[in-house]
Amino acid sequence: MLSLGLACLFLFFSCTRKEPGKLRILTAGIRHESNTFNPVLTTSKDFIVKRGSAVLEGEEWAGYLKNEGIEVIPTLHADAGPYGVVVRDTYESFRSEIISKISEAGRIDGIYLDMHGALHAGGYQDAQSDLIRSIRKEVGDAVLISASFDLHGNMSSEFVRGLNIVTAYRTAPHVDGSQTRLRAVRLLVNALRNKWKPEVVHINVPILIPGEKGITSVEPLKSLYEQLPEIADQEGILDASIFVGMPWTDVPRAGMSIQVVAQDELYLPKARNELHRLATQLWDKRSGLQFDVPTDNIEGAVDTALKSEASTVFITDSGDNTTAGAAGDNTLVLGYLLSRGVRNAIVAGIVDPQAVQRCEEAGVGNEISMTIGGRIDTVFGKSLRISGIVKRVANYDSLTRRKPAVVELDGIDLVLLTDRRSFISPRDFEEVGLNPLDYKIVVVKLGYLFQGLRDIAPMAIMALTPGFANQAIERLPYRNINRPVYPLDEDMQWDFVATNE
Ligand SMILES: [Zn+2]
Repeated sequence: MLSLGLACLFLFFSCTRKEPGKLRILTAGIRHESNTFNPVLTTSKDFIVKRGSAVLEGEEWAGYLKNEGIEVIPTLHADAGPYGVVVRDTYESFRSEIISKISEAGRIDGIYLDMHGALHAGGYQDAQSDLIRSIRKEVGDAVLISASFDLHGNMSSEFVRGLNIVTAYRTAPHVDGSQTRLRAVRLLVNALRNKWKPEVVHINVPILIPGEKGITSVEPLKSLYEQLPEIADQEGILDASIFVGMPWTDVPRAGMSIQVVAQDELYLPKARNELHRLATQLWDKRSGLQFDVPTDNIEGAVDTALKSEASTVFITDSGDNTTAGAAGDNTLVLGYLLSRGVRNAIVAGIVDPQAVQRCEEAGVGNEISMTIGGRIDTVFGKSLRISGIVKRVANYDSLTRRKPAVVELDGIDLVLLTDRRSFISPRDFEEVGLNPLDYKIVVVKLGYLFQGLRDIAPMAIMALTPGFANQAIERLPYRNINRPVYPLDEDMQWDFVATNE
């Protein structure tokens, strides 16, 4: 008996002593920006799902945790490009997998969630709140949960209540994704080591704008975002975030919001003061939230581009912006360029896997005549008959799921895509063997130019085209957003104190 007792005691100590004080952090994530105006749903096959060690590869935050000697338990990280609402089964299968991994994980000190923030799943009012509720049910309140977001997330107070730390990108166009994820993880580790119990104060500010009116490097957001690191440096405050929100998700939580993270309960009044200060400044400056580039209809944008002395003019087909969940197969701008006889232009690109297949069958250097586009967006788009020469067909890349083709039409190089994506950087053009600066007009399916193109574009015009990401949001058939909201209800009154009473 005695020896058995000693053996048990030894086993007990060796288990508890195995990794003394070693923190255990579990990670998970469902990243999606759901556009409820796009009727085509996002399904499991649209997601790139990473599990286990694949989650950690090449991630700065994972490298940090490793260097700090922290045990990481990666579960499921699912990521899909912006598109229609996520089907219920897909969301539920991700949630089940995350919850079952949590229940198998044993002791967990903290959880890091890698989110976008604008997830909307069929059958759920607020799938992100459902996710955090399900996680809390499993781990209780003692485990700290830190989450990082794209600032285009739509945050609800219920969701935020389940989180100890919220941190969002501070740049739009985004250049600080990796930095933000690292910050979420560092804050979590600091809080665990210092035995803090952070709490987040949150407010939905009733402002609904497209991201193109919420650029962080121009006023009025510039000076607001510049305050965030200063607030985060204050004693007792861990971080502060401003969400621009996602206006093409028709849900009550859509719109701008602000969060300040208090180190613990003691600093909640201070965090609330900062929240009040930021929210009031944002509200007072709301009329300054405007597009930072010229906008026009297709005809006007092309006119201006042709008359411009700029060597290259980027025209963004903003209604069909795939980075905001639109279809990417609208042919309106291409049709207009062809009808007007414009030459020396690129249209990059139009999503049409069948057309890419036809190019492959025809072969490089051969003539092709076919109908393209208008298959996904059948509401605003229509197909277009084209004739040209196949210039290039790339090999399928299983990692990126890409297989672009280039067809030369009368003076216009058209990129056809198998995948829904926008050309956001010079690298995207390199991949198809084109240099955008060799052309007078470059049409891309974006709202604002992402930073890589911004850096090289001599001039940009945003074409206010129809599509599932219509920039004229006042024309959208909203049914579920909270009203009143600025600028749809332009004369509305709002006050931070009254809202918090
Ligand atoms: Zn974003």
